[in-house]
Amino acid sequence: MDATARHRRRRPDRPSVRGRLVAVGMAAWLLGQLGCGEDKTLAPRQPLSHQGVPVVRVLLTAKPAVSATIAAGDDYHLLADGRTISQSKGALPSLKITRKGDRWRVGRQTVPARQLALKVSGDSFVRFGRTRYRGELHLLPVDEDRIQVVNHVDTESYLAGVLPKELYGGWSLATYRAQAVAARSFALFHRARFGPRRPYDLGAGEASQVYGGMDAETDTSWSAVRQTHGQVLTYGAPGQEKVFLVQYSSSCGGVVNGAGVIRPANDIEPLRGGQTCSDCRPSPRYRWPTTRISKTHIYEALQAVYPSARDLGGVATVRIKSRTPYGRIMWIDVIGPNRKKLTIRGEDLRLALLRTGVKTLYSMNCRLRDLGKQIEFSDGRGNGHGVGMCQWGAEGKAQRGWTSQEILGFYYPGANITPHY
Ligand SMILES: [Zn+2]
Repeated sequence: MDATARHRRRRPDRPSVRGRLVAVGMAAWLLGQLGCGEDKTLAPRQPLSHQGVPVVRVLLTAKPAVSATIAAGDDYHLLADGRTISQSKGALPSLKITRKGDRWRVGRQTVPARQLALKVSGDSFVRFGRTRYRGELHLLPVDEDRIQVVNHVDTESYLAGVLPKELYGGWSLATYRAQAVAARSFALFHRARFGPRRPYDLGAGEASQVYGGMDAETDTSWSAVRQTHGQVLTYGAPGQEKVFLVQYSSSCGGVVNGAGVIRPANDIEPLRGGQTCSDCRPSPRYRWPTTRISKTHIYEALQAVYPSARDLGGVATVRIKSRTPYGRIMWIDVIGPNRKKLTIRGEDLRLALLRTGVKTLYSMNCRLRDLGKQIEFSDGRGNGHGVGMCQWGAEGKAQRGWTSQEILGFYYPGANITPHY
């Protein structure tokens, strides 16, 4: 996911969402009534853990690492397969950790164990690299000598470290609240869907939700998290509502996309798209300049993701195969000089190019033209996949007085706001 940039916009017709978005329970209702910045009875920061709040496991290493430098605040325990190998009421200074075969090298100590865990108590913190995190650090072997580092953290603290990375610091509390509910839903969906199969639930980068740990937290992020405590978006027949994959992006560029542009989506109402959204007009990527990318580069980028792209023998041209009902690119055909064809989502071409450092193709809401050696992308609109909540659009609406419930109701029509815990 991505985010960030600022501004506002005028008021169109408000959606009638009050009847459809059900914030269940008196506590949730009361929190909803607190409104912007009125949460003065609570301390600005929340303690480390809460009763009944699920723990999410966030992979902090984007790639397997050969070493990790960890540290901790006061009152820590360092455990190897559950057995304490070091503890103190004081702080843990920086400790370099490597892995060789079936052993850990922990500073000067060699520890035969499968995994390490660094735990602290109370409001203390763990540190990985330069960043402080709440919760625990778990170090797991990936192979003979490479490791991955996973932060186990309660969902609410996790969100407090996500929102400031996804939104601008000066944006409205209503936008933060809407983002908190969307991000909580996204996290818990991943936890339930992917967590059982691997030692982590989410990544910490743009492919997931950007997470900056305790160091990223702000008073606004904590206020939004606390005021929406446990709330998620669900959809389904009454009594069968489920958390769905709640997506969002920086700016839609004028029309919200359906989830089909990014994945084989079961066509559910909250992610069908089609809403007109001019509130993201202040985004610097509401319209973006024409960009041209060489066919050679496109071929290389595709091969890195799709082994079958090699069969094309090059890129002769790229054609739009289909568009969404709103005129956005859905599927494209990449055609090789040998006339072989690779059909992929337009969005997947953009992501493949992004991986190779092409940052000027902000969305696939654009036109394509074959210029011979290059493909031209013009009339570009929006930043990101444009599915679900448009963050710039949400901020525009918040600035015009919309509540977080109204914002969520607009971008995820038919969904309910439901307490998950
Ligand atoms: Zn928008």
